[in-house]
Amino acid sequence: MEELTSYAKRRGFVFQASEIYGGLGGFWDLGPYGAELADNIKASWWKEFVYKNANVVGVNTTIIQNPKLWKASGHIDTFVDPMVDCKECKHRFRADHVAGIDTNDLKKLDEKLKETACPNCGARHSFTPARTFQMMFKTYVGPIEDDANVSYLRPETAGGIFAQYENVRETTRKKLPFGIAQIGKAFRNEITPGDFIFRLRELTQMELEFFTKPKEAAKQYEFWKDYCMQWLLSLGLNKENLRFHDHADDERAHYAEASVDVQYNYPFGFKELYGIANRTDYDLSAHAKQSGKDLTYFDEETGERFMPYVIEPSVGVERLLMAVMLDAYDEEEVNGEKRVVMRFAPHIAPVKVAVLPLSKKPELSKLSQKVFSEIAGEYNVEYDETQSIGKRYRRQDEIGTPYCVTVDFDSLNDDSVTVRERDSMKQERIKISELKSYLSAKLFV
Ligand code: ATP
Repeated sequence: MEELTSYAKRRGFVFQASEIYGGLGGFWDLGPYGAELADNIKASWWKEFVYKNANVVGVNTTIIQNPKLWKASGHIDTFVDPMVDCKECKHRFRADHVAGIDTNDLKKLDEKLKETACPNCGARHSFTPARTFQMMFKTYVGPIEDDANVSYLRPETAGGIFAQYENVRETTRKKLPFGIAQIGKAFRNEITPGDFIFRLRELTQMELEFFTKPKEAAKQYEFWKDYCMQWLLSLGLNKENLRFHDHADDERAHYAEASVDVQYNYPFGFKELYGIANRTDYDLSAHAKQSGKDLTYFDEETGERFMPYVIEPSVGVERLLMAVMLDAYDEEEVNGEKRVVMRFAPHIAPVKVAVLPLSKKPELSKLSQKVFSEIAGEYNVEYDETQSIGKRYRRQDEIGTPYCVTVDFDSLNDDSVTVRERDSMKQERIKISELKSYLSAKLFV
């Protein structure tokens, strides 16, 4: 983890937020390459989940909503985590994590904690009684800071989708089954953020709420479970590092008929990357009750009226970005020297192509600038003329650039450049006039 954290900083992927002020627990900024990588992951998700499915549309709802929405969704009453403090060292923990049991039941936790030593100082019988902690960030809407104006930063993007379900259905004239997708920030005041960007307080979610007839929900659940796994593999994640973890009855939310995590093999073990659940009609029913609006669906074919079920696949961009970086990282020996390569799938690589003039001579710079202008604009291209060509190749390998284009003195006569492929390091001579289509074909297969 330390290696990944320092690598991510050194290479401009992830920085601690407010680092010059000592940072802030659970908040991380994306640097130039991290921001590109995250955007490419988001674009890939949007293409796969929205564009490729005629019955899925996207929305962009606000982070702050009417607090009644969070009352209906159950977040105000139940979006809590259990916490305990060690009386000896004053460290604060997630009670379920320390106790090693997946429950919010305070009695069960207290029982288990009696036999558990403090992971920080080793003291025994030192825990305070477990108590719950509201994880939503509170704020005030408007100038008056009183209870009537309290609202929350959304803890997930799904709430906004459910609240707009009827507007979207009506305006797009969608029939069941159909889905509404959203990518956006979510905020959780986690008791113990950490493991780099695995557990954040400000995160980005990519969520699909797929509405279906109740009797087709089980089939849709299986469909989306498989769909999510296939998409993760398309990002270049290693099959061996991914697995399904079906939730047992006591792990599942009371309303969910079935739920599963796709877990990734992080350096600290297999942990949740993607959550997929058959949430039944719980959400729409709760919002219908709280708002007084009829959210039932009329099936014209059968003449039946019912509340749709929903299948929800939900994944965090940063948790996924971390998995992608871990799987992409590779070291090999080339001519007795260590080579570090990030083997990103080309379509998500932060830099797609680097244009590298062999020297800084003005005639080469001029032609190289021309080559850059010809291919830049549609994807991220870097221009670098500092240091030796070997060093520049190594630098591009380390950030996972799939193709380097070298402009040399022969280029001035033959109007061609050398294209070097990252993984095989094979070099090919390509006409400048054909470069753009050559690269596009390679990058977006
Ligand atoms: P965990 O059990 O790890 O706290 P969760 O079950 O609360 O996660 P969900 O509410 O199912 O998570 O959220 C869906 C997805 O959002 C998760 O699978 C994860 O990818 C991401 N996510 C949730 N909480 C965080 C967080 N604090 N930091 C980063 N990503 C998160």
